[in-house]
Amino acid sequence: MEKFRPNSYYPSIHDINYDGLYNQKIRCLMFDLDNTLALIDEGVPPQKVIDLMKKLNERFDTYIISNNSQKRIAKFCSNFDSRFVAFALKPLSKGFKTIEKMGNYRRDEMCIIGDQLLTDVLGGKRFGCHTILVDPLGKKDLKVTSLNRLIERKLMKRMTKKGIWKRGEYYE
Ligand SMILES: [Mg+2]
Repeated sequence: MEKFRPNSYYPSIHDINYDGLYNQKIRCLMFDLDNTLALIDEGVPPQKVIDLMKKLNERFDTYIISNNSQKRIAKFCSNFDSRFVAFALKPLSKGFKTIEKMGNYRRDEMCIIGDQLLTDVLGGKRFGCHTILVDPLGKKDLKVTSLNRLIERKLMKRMTKKGIWKRGEYYE
């Protein structure tokens, strides 16, 4: 069960304590796209997200790591300076390793931020970086995500029963 518990849990990307991450020597922020940065049918990032990414890029390297297509992510990123990995196959380590090499990072300098336990958090934990869960922005998911959500709901229930995680009880 512990392998699904994120290091931190926040309502959204706008609530994350980025100063704290910087002080913990995190230098590489890897964001999931769908339901983390934007809704699945939002092709262009909300202005608030553009502003945040630009601000973060002043002192972090930011990446988008998504299982979605190159086309979707490239268009989305064109408004700010993040590099990205498409078809990342999370929870496999492939995409994380690509980014590790791109910036020559140590794994403890890297952090994944996403809305899914089974792809983002589990993937990050297996890879060995810092993991942050945020609540999904919308209720609508990609088709491939529906089964994951079903399993995720069961996992969340079990974690809540064990007293190690609960929806809405945020922690740093
Ligand atoms: Mg997502």
